[in-house]
Amino acid sequence: MKSNSLWISRSLQNVWHPCTQMQHHETMPLVPISHGRGAWLFDADGKRYLDGISSWWVNLFGHANSRINAALKDQLDKLEHVMLAGFTHEPVISLSEKLAEKTQHQLGHCFFASDGASAVEIALKMSFHSWSNSGLPDKKEFVCLQGSYHGETIGALAVTDVAIFRDAYGPLINSAHVVISPDARQALEGETAQDVARRAIAEVEKLFEQRSDKIAAIIVEPLIQCAIGFAMYDALYLTLLRALCDKYQVHLIADEIAVGCGRTGSFFACEQASIWPDFMCLSKGISGGYLPLSLVMTTDKVYQSFYHQDIRRGFLHSHSYTGNPLACRAALATLEIFQEDSVLATNCARAAKINAALAPLAQHEKVKNFRQRGMIWAFDAVDAKAGFSSRFFTQALKQELLLRPIGNTVYLMPPYILSDEEIAHLAHNTLSVFEQVMV
Ligand SMILES: *Cc1c(COP(=O)(O)O)cnc(C)c1O
Repeated sequence: MKSNSLWISRSLQNVWHPCTQMQHHETMPLVPISHGRGAWLFDADGKRYLDGISSWWVNLFGHANSRINAALKDQLDKLEHVMLAGFTHEPVISLSEKLAEKTQHQLGHCFFASDGASAVEIALKMSFHSWSNSGLPDKKEFVCLQGSYHGETIGALAVTDVAIFRDAYGPLINSAHVVISPDARQALEGETAQDVARRAIAEVEKLFEQRSDKIAAIIVEPLIQCAIGFAMYDALYLTLLRALCDKYQVHLIADEIAVGCGRTGSFFACEQASIWPDFMCLSKGISGGYLPLSLVMTTDKVYQSFYHQDIRRGFLHSHSYTGNPLACRAALATLEIFQEDSVLATNCARAAKINAALAPLAQHEKVKNFRQRGMIWAFDAVDAKAGFSSRFFTQALKQELLLRPIGNTVYLMPPYILSDEEIAHLAHNTLSVFEQVMV
């Protein structure tokens, strides 16, 4: 038996895979990965795949990155873990300092967890509790955008508007207000992306006018709603939303779990709108794709609303692995790479090369809404047949490419290290896979 098939049958015995109808694995085989190097993953039979989606959007500087590996090996011999309640350690201090600095200390208080959904839960709880500590306990409702995705725990699902993840648990979920998305593809005849943003904001203002005394926060994915199929929108929406939140006393939660850490071109996506939220959620890329780590950054104002003699006014939320030293150290090594390699600037040049390489695809007659921001590319397949996404995924694997379309939207979200050769491989094979799947 070849190693791939052996691993597959063993995995199907005891591992329940995420985001999967397990019966589909009767026809769609698992891909057993034995090791990774740079932008490449290698399966148990030695076949390679270019990681075009950064292993579910987490990897920034490649697999087995020597600098992150070295930092982790060093940390491993010092301290693998200690509880963060009542204790502290160098990696969590340095990481909090560095991140606070990146927001010019506007978001100077970092609260840690381990995964993205937990960071969203924390922001929701903190927002409500902060208003309640400030004498406004009626502010307990939340607002999210149509097509929003903020994670899949019960609380995070309340602000997630993706039917396939949400509907099965409808009876368990506290509903949030859903407002229209500023998705630039929804432009009416003659409208610009900024017009769509203004139209979407008008709806938020209407809701705030009626209910802001009941609303704690609005949560958004700045610039790009990723999980619904990479809906990109104008930064003006965020600028106007910040002003509305100030006017009506509603917290703004920026979920930068997917779009943060340089993905959209700036370190934080919010920077492109020249705003800071009241809560910023980070995860995914923050540890370079190495270890589970998430955090919520917030303002001094929110922090002060909890600072009190009375323990019940404190934020008593905790996770066992909160602020894990190894994960924080991976994040520090990741931030060092950003600085030492001027990553935002080099990504700009790299994105221009990728754009050029993707030009034939962008002009393909079956491609519409070709769009790009920073290190994210997406396009929609015109008149795709049923099963487009799984057929594309399977064909891509055959051509040494890991890509997983969402519905009829193909997206590329590669790590920030592609060489010219790898860019050519990505662009050429994406086009060729697309053409084969569209016949
Ligand atoms: C992935 C993601 C989450 C959830 O993070 P997990 O670590 O998967 O729980 C939340 N929000 C956004 C925008 C995401 O992309």
